[in-house]
Amino acid sequence: SSASLRYRRVLLKISGEALMGSGQYGIDNETVSRIANEIKDAKELGAEICLVIGGGNIFRGVSPAAQGMERASADYMGMLATVMNALAVQNALERIGLYTRVLSAIEMTAICEPYIRRRALRHMEKGRIVIFAAGTGNPFFTTDTAAALRAAEMGCDALLKGTQVDGVYSADPKLDPDAERFEHLSYHEVLMRDLKVMDQAAISLTRESDIPIVVFPIGVGGGVVGALTGEGASTVISD
Ligand code: UDP
Repeated sequence: SSASLRYRRVLLKISGEALMGSGQYGIDNETVSRIANEIKDAKELGAEICLVIGGGNIFRGVSPAAQGMERASADYMGMLATVMNALAVQNALERIGLYTRVLSAIEMTAICEPYIRRRALRHMEKGRIVIFAAGTGNPFFTTDTAAALRAAEMGCDALLKGTQVDGVYSADPKLDPDAERFEHLSYHEVLMRDLKVMDQAAISLTRESDIPIVVFPIGVGGGVVGALTGEGASTVISD
């Protein structure tokens, strides 16, 4: 039943770093499996789920490796990295019996479908997990912005932002023992206090579309279900 769900259709944003596990870069299969299982649990509760996955674990447009490169070219490499992550997550989801489609903002028809909004909606109606790859398809953007954009396009009830911590803090809780955790924030507060939740473009987009952002711990036990039911620790950002 979906009775206990606060949100029915959600976009889950997973940063590339969340796939590294304890590694310094790349993809840790065990971590990806753990995340896949959290997604399966949420699906079984009746949630409709689509995903945007970052690429920071493989490539970042502003990384040292990209220095000396034209920004746009480096960003395209970053977008290609998100496609690799999308395929890794697709595999992990299929291994545990879920139906998925990868839709890329940059056409790569030998590997995945091109992003077509109506097709993505149809996949979701059929209960497939849609994985949006290649960010927005544009350099100078981030996968946070892509997440906000796709959440709006898919008519999502919430944007779930999986992180390593259990919400948004006033300071980095790993560095500052007095850091305070917020239960709720407004979009305005996030922007004014310059809290590092998602980039400003993403916050503005979700605010305009009136989509709450739920910041919650992923792959560390809290789980996607906790964010969907409100039973797990999280910070909710809304008006
Ligand atoms: N990127 C881009 N346009 C987009 C999404 C991503 O140019 O719409 C590039 C950008 O270089 C970014 C990289 O892809 O640094 C990886 O994405 P991001 O940093 O958002 O990944 P995350 O931090 O979530 O792992």
